[in-house]
Amino acid sequence: MVHALKKSLVTLKSILTGMKVTMRHLFQPSVTIRYPDVRDELPETARSKLYVNIDDCIGCKLCERACPVNCISIETVQATSDVDLGKTSTGNPKRFWVTNFEIDMAKCMYCDLCVPPCPTDCITMVPEYEYSEFDRNNLLFQFSELSPDKVEEVKEKLEKEQEEKQRQKEEAARKKEAEKNKSEDSPAETKSTEE
Ligand code: SF4
Ligand code: SF4
Repeated sequence: MVHALKKSLVTLKSILTGMKVTMRHLFQPSVTIRYPDVRDELPETARSKLYVNIDDCIGCKLCERACPVNCISIETVQATSDVDLGKTSTGNPKRFWVTNFEIDMAKCMYCDLCVPPCPTDCITMVPEYEYSEFDRNNLLFQFSELSPDKVEEVKEKLEKEQEEKQRQKEEAARKKEAEKNKSEDSPAETKSTEE
């Protein structure tokens, strides 16, 4: 009987404590908003999603190296000597095609370490947070400067140019070797002529 009474008093005390908190907040301004009809302004420094301006990317891969969890992956192809890729809006010369840029936002921990090393300020955090997905594979953002066909084309072109450069290098080395052999043989020839 005493035990039941004690239990009832504890229950009553809990209810009164809860009601006290409710009453206190009932007459205070609300701290919640009616999301998604109402949205809070995010601070300027909010880290929500990475954005890359691919036109300004020079393919230096500094962001990829800075990421502690390897969620950035970049593939580039060097532009051949007959192509001028121009400059970025910050004046940096572009020498590589960015053929694949991947950011796995499912792995990203929003540390922002990839942003400061970028020499052209083309990778930034933007205040966009409504991109949740049921399938985490949909959080893998992938983009490229070129279509898949064009990527193969520029790769082939670079391969041919490199082969040609290698051939010219070998040819020059052969010529140099031949000239060296010739000059080494010449004194002997002179000597035999004198005899
Ligand atoms: S914010 Fe951090 S974890 Fe995310 S991509 Fe950049 S460096 Fe990697
Ligand atoms: S650091 Fe900037 S320029 Fe370099 S690869 Fe990353 S996004 Fe592109």
